[in-house]
Amino acid sequence: MDAPLTATILIVSTTAALDPSTDGAGAVLRDVFNGDGTGKWTVTDQKIVSDNVIEIQKQIMQWTDGPDAPNFILTTGGTGFAASDSTPEAVTALLHKEAPGLVHAMLSTSLAVTPFAMMSRPVAGVRSKTVIATLPGSPKGAKENLQAIIKTLPHACLQAAGANSRQLHAGGTKKLEKEAGITDGSRKSHDHSHSHDHQHDHRGHNHSHEAGHGHDKLVRHTMPASNPLSNDPNLGPTRRHRESPYPMVSVDDALSMIGEFTPEPEIIQRKVNKEIIGSVLAEEVRARENVPAFRASIVDGYAVVVPQDGNLKGVFPVVGVSHAAPGEIAPLQEGEIARITTGAPLPPGATAVIMVEDTILKSMTDDGKEEKEVEIQAEGVQEGENIREVGSDVKQGTTILSKGEQICGVGGEIGLLASVGVAEAIVYKRPVVGILSTGDEIIEYNRSGELRLGEVRDTNRITLISAAREWGFEVVDLGIAKDKSNSLEETLRAGLRQADVLITTGGVSMGELDLLKPTIERSLGGTIHFGRVAMKPGKPTTFATVPVKNNAGQRLSKVIFSLPGNPASALVTFHLFVLPSLHKQAGISPVGLARVPVVLGHDFAMDPRPEYHRVVVTVGADGQLMANSTGGQRSSRVGSLRSANALVCMPSGKGKLEKGSKVQALVMNTIRSL
Ligand code: AMP
Ligand code: MG
Repeated sequence: MDAPLTATILIVSTTAALDPSTDGAGAVLRDVFNGDGTGKWTVTDQKIVSDNVIEIQKQIMQWTDGPDAPNFILTTGGTGFAASDSTPEAVTALLHKEAPGLVHAMLSTSLAVTPFAMMSRPVAGVRSKTVIATLPGSPKGAKENLQAIIKTLPHACLQAAGANSRQLHAGGTKKLEKEAGITDGSRKSHDHSHSHDHQHDHRGHNHSHEAGHGHDKLVRHTMPASNPLSNDPNLGPTRRHRESPYPMVSVDDALSMIGEFTPEPEIIQRKVNKEIIGSVLAEEVRARENVPAFRASIVDGYAVVVPQDGNLKGVFPVVGVSHAAPGEIAPLQEGEIARITTGAPLPPGATAVIMVEDTILKSMTDDGKEEKEVEIQAEGVQEGENIREVGSDVKQGTTILSKGEQICGVGGEIGLLASVGVAEAIVYKRPVVGILSTGDEIIEYNRSGELRLGEVRDTNRITLISAAREWGFEVVDLGIAKDKSNSLEETLRAGLRQADVLITTGGVSMGELDLLKPTIERSLGGTIHFGRVAMKPGKPTTFATVPVKNNAGQRLSKVIFSLPGNPASALVTFHLFVLPSLHKQAGISPVGLARVPVVLGHDFAMDPRPEYHRVVVTVGADGQLMANSTGGQRSSRVGSLRSANALVCMPSGKGKLEKGSKVQALVMNTIRSL
């Protein structure tokens, strides 16, 4: 072997994440690499994360999906049966290939030492070009597991990294064993360097934090072919899941996954015109020019040359006129004055302007059309009076707008850009949203004639299209897809070509015709990040990413939100989940609806699930924000959003929250005074 293979170590322990000095496994594992694996391995990185699926996955993916992916990642910790132990789940979801052989080797080695090795749940496999294995948290257990596989690992790593497998295998197993330094003897009885009476703590670290944080269940990040959770629609209703196999995630976890898997904003150049409204600047914009570009008068009056003593009492000849128009102006001498209008350039030599209100017309030209002499009665006149100096509003070269600022529709920013002649700006591309409805029962909302039994007018599409536009996003209307896999797949594919984000509604409950999840996973090769959220309304909300290639042939991923079919649920989940993703892609920060404290105007019943109760918030006489329910909150009642300008975040519970209680509300629309 030429260059040594690279390995990284991930210590999974909430305790060690807080205090790295409590970790003992890292050093022990490095010793194994330097001992049994001498010359063959370099450990290039070591990180500590807490027992948290997302943190574990984030770190592993940072390693495996980057340009310098290591050959081998080993984790230590979180493989036991405690509620917080979730390393195997986190890792399994990332694997492209599983490696039960490695697991077997690790377990049988440890089992030879203690039956308590059964309490470890190791997994191993390959993600992209990296072999991954999970070791127990106890330094001894971890060491022994690594020793069990380290000699054969280089072979697996080389294959995973793309080495020619025929060449690797030429010469047979014997040759492989010899190269790996495995002798017949060492194969039969693994050389344990430790005594046999040690206590085997395969449960990992002592977790001092509370169990059951957020979601410690499987987060799907599957290769669709390997283990999709969705129904296989070909199997029919008798074989479908009778309960959703998707773990229920909290709203906060759902939002953090959306944040994590939504692509970074794209940067483009845009003309400064109405199309740029709503865009966020991806650059700092500097003034190209001074405003004003010339010395200009602030008032209508007479340009003067202020004498030393500031005394301007007397009758002065009007020698010229300066209008607010481009052109040459004759210079002014002391003792002369020139009529000037607001915003007009000062004649060269003029040092102040006297307001017309402070003057008296003395004489006219013979034809009576022009002023000849004007009397001024001013004392203590200062140079610069009533003059806007060059660059006094905006100085050339100064920053007028910062990166991250939004050019909003009420005018301030676009006005500033226009004033200094910035005709193009670098901004984040606002994502284009493709919106479709699904369901055999759904008909166009405006189809004439009476409804047949079972028909439902498409409420969601026009509702979401309007909401997305109102928030400043361009929309592609993708129509209604039938509850047939191929119709859905076709519509989604067409949507992915035209839009950056897809929103579907319907087809995510538990019925046999609920085809969104299977189509995303099985036909589009997508990854469902969550398929159930603990909330009301909107429990079946589904968030996925699908791999696509852009016109340049680059691989990227696009997000799909599959919202529930019930119209109130669809609109609430759009605001709660889709909007933050659109905001992130548009470079808008902070993302999502603004959160404000409100006071309940009456008693609100609580639900076992956190509820997003539709309310009208008004500013009371005392300046306090008061929330009143819009009435029936059933998820099919889109009327619950009529006149609603906010969603009250009702905590889960029994009974009621009383009138006057303080709660948080998410603002969707303008709040008005009573
Ligand atoms: P599904 O998730 O497809 O089972 O839909 C749940 C409920 O929402 C059903 O009663 C559907 O008829 C209804 N629904 C689905 N899509 C729409 C839509 N676009 N407009 C109005 N109702 C819908
Ligand atoms: Mg349906």
